[in-house]
This record gives sequence, structure tokens and C-alpha cells, in this order.
Amino acid sequence: MAEAKISIKVFVDKVRKRVVYAEADHTFVDILFSFMTMPMGTIVRLLSKASDEKIEALGSLNILYQSLNDFPESYLATEECKFMLLNPRNLSYDLCRNLKLKIDDTEPLKYFLCGDCRSKGYTCNMRFSICNKAKCIRCGKLMSSYHSSAISNVFVGGGMFVSDIATFIVTDDLSVIPYSAAGILRLLADLGINDTSLLEERKLDLDSKQMLYLVKMAFSLDSPLTCYVLHEHNMFLNPRQSITFHRCDPMNKETTTSSKMVLEVSLQKSTGKFLFAEAKEDFVDFVFGFLSIPLGTVIGTLMKGTSSIRCFDNLFRSILNMNVERYFKSQDTKNKLVKPPPGQEYCSKNMIFPLIGHTITSLSVSGYSYQLKDPRIEGSFLKQSGLFYVTDDLSISPSSSHLVINTLNKLKVKVDDIEKHEITIGFEEGLNMLKASLRSQSTLTNIIKHQLKK
Ligand SMILES: [Zn+2]
Repeated sequence: MAEAKISIKVFVDKVRKRVVYAEADHTFVDILFSFMTMPMGTIVRLLSKASDEKIEALGSLNILYQSLNDFPESYLATEECKFMLLNPRNLSYDLCRNLKLKIDDTEPLKYFLCGDCRSKGYTCNMRFSICNKAKCIRCGKLMSSYHSSAISNVFVGGGMFVSDIATFIVTDDLSVIPYSAAGILRLLADLGINDTSLLEERKLDLDSKQMLYLVKMAFSLDSPLTCYVLHEHNMFLNPRQSITFHRCDPMNKETTTSSKMVLEVSLQKSTGKFLFAEAKEDFVDFVFGFLSIPLGTVIGTLMKGTSSIRCFDNLFRSILNMNVERYFKSQDTKNKLVKPPPGQEYCSKNMIFPLIGHTITSLSVSGYSYQLKDPRIEGSFLKQSGLFYVTDDLSISPSSSHLVINTLNKLKVKVDDIEKHEITIGFEEGLNMLKASLRSQSTLTNIIKHQLKK
């Protein structure tokens, strides 16, 4: 079977060599919107497949994901913690599976029970896990008895999030508005385009790989359509733009715990350059948790529409402003995009953002009800275990003198040229760190500059 493709029309300004806007139906808009439902870890994994060395997307989150992947399992509370952190769930998974292009290749959920306890007929205190490495809380054996869920694979067709009869206008920086002639004229006027004969209409066919590539551009550039259509990469490459931090409003603070984590930062005295930091498991637990938060929640609930990824801020605002009755399937569908909860029941106690996860918590097998096993120990995904070494771009690993000495040798820094600072990370600093990690490879430098300025 030939791979599915979607088509959009793009209108190119021949003189200024840029895409003015695209005209698209629900197939294209649904896919763009679907990224709001995806956890950051899923987006990192998907974009890493659309490799292009010229385009860097999602700054330090790539490094964070990689270091979680390489992180020794012995430091985690239970066997299934790493699996759950690396494979965060999207609560709109079923909707996304029915999109015209298959963008997210995450495997469907599988459920595992303890085969031993089942065969012995134990019926109380029964647990299931979504990871085949989990151990039974009753007998300690591997929960490897597989139970598949009833998943509908039927392609229902039509729009998943937005109405399938509407046409949309998508600007170069991903503002989406329902089509109207007045909308087009306003857009042209705003862009200073008076003579429509200078516009050239082109048809663009996109398969899943091309779509993913376009999305990757949208995560790192402000003119993804122009870059994609006209291949004008270098003009628009601006991934290291400065990040503006905002003070949190007081409302946010009340909703979170007052817990603070400590980061011990080593700087070069003579230059102020960040060398490395050391932290305890609470910080590591918190930062790994970034990967489970859906993009829509990062931009909306946490950053109030200003994540500094311009295209997705625009996309988010477009969803917020779009009329529910006319353009969305329902209010519930719109909420799935602007307030997607993390797809996990258990968040770490070190997650200082106010997140409430949701997932399937009970499973019925042959008339018995199984509860989801809590993978944490004392509310944490990590064991209480020593110190961790953290680089500027959020590579995290168990600390060792080898790492420290290597860093000093590599950067040619003398021991008497090092100064230590203790930085406390609370809600506001955590938010700034998440924000910096979306765009920058120098996440901790950004945070420390901001902290020391105070
Ligand atoms: Zn058992």
C-alpha cells in the first residue's frame, strides 16, 4: 500500500521569497494540533528521527532524554520507573492513531500481571503494570503475564480534533485561523502585500516523514513553511535566541508545594563560565519529569502561552481563540489540546509543577479487578542515592571524580579558578529551567545568570 499523503496549498510571495500562508483542511491542522497532546519525551524521540544537522530542535531536552536512556537502572526506585519515564503516555493516543499520517509510532499500551499469583488464584490486592519488567508486590516475581486490551484499530476517518468540513489558513509562523476571504485580506494587509499577482500558488504533498521534518523546523525556526518550501534554511536559523523569563504570578505559587531543591554549581572564577553542577536525586527526579509533560500543558498551564517556541505559542493561541461549536469536535476535544493531563497516574513527589496525571488505573480480567501498580518508592522515581553530575545542557549521570577531572581538563580550568554557588530550585526556577531547555543548549547558564542577577 502506498504511504498516505496529505496536500496543502501554499501561497508564495515571489518577490520577497517567502510563504505568505498555507490553505489546508483538517488533515494538516489535526496533525499540527496533535503535538499539543504529546509528552515532551515523545516529541524529542519523534523529532530525532527527522535528522538534519542544520536544524536543532528542543535544545537541552534532547540531551536530557539521551541521559535518561543511558541512566543506570540501579539508581531508580523500581524496574519499571525508567520505562515509564522514557515512554510517557499520551492520553489522546487513540485519536492520534487515527490521524491521516502516522506520526507517532509509540506502541499501544500492554498490560502485565503476575502469572504466578494468578495461577494460584490470589484475588486480593492484585496489581497490573504497563511494563514487563515490573515485579509483583506479593511474591516478587516478574509480572510477565501479558494481557492485551481491547483497542479499536478502526480508522473512523474525518477530523480528530477539528471539524472535517472547515478550511484553515496557516501562516508561516503557524497561526491558524478558519478560512475567510476577509481573513486572507487582513493577513495580506498586515504583511504589506498589496499586489496579489505577486503571489504564486503551489501544491505541497506531505508524507509522514516530510510532515515530521516540517514540524521539526517549526520547533526551531520562526518561518518553517518558507524554509520547507523554498529551502532557505540559513536565513532563518536562529535557535540560540535569548530567552526571556517571567516572574510567576502569585496564584501559581499558592498551588505548588514550597519544597526547594539545591543545586551546587561550579563556575570558573575568572570568566564566570558554568563548569558543572551536582545535585541530589530530588532534582534529577524533577528534571526527568519534564519529559512526561504534554506540550499543551507546558505552553498553556505552565507558561501561559509564552514558551518562546514562537510557532507553537501561535498554534496554542490559535486553538484557544477558535470557536468550539463551529471548528472543534467538542469542548472536551479542545480541552485535550489546551489542558492535556500527563498520561500517568503517579507523579513524583519532587515534581513541583502542579500536574495531575490521569491514566487507566484499574483493569478487569476474567471478572477480577486489578489496580495499577505504583512504581515509586516513597513517592519518588529515584532511590535516595548519592550525587549526580549535571552539565549545562542537562546531561545527568551519577557523579564521579572521573567526570569532574575530565571536565576541568577539557576546559583547561585550574582548581584554584573554581568557585562554588548554591542555587535553590523552586517553582519559579524550575519553570525557567524548563523554558530554557526548550530552546537552548545552555540551560543552566541561563538559570544561573538569572539567579545571580537577583
Ligand atoms: Zn505474584
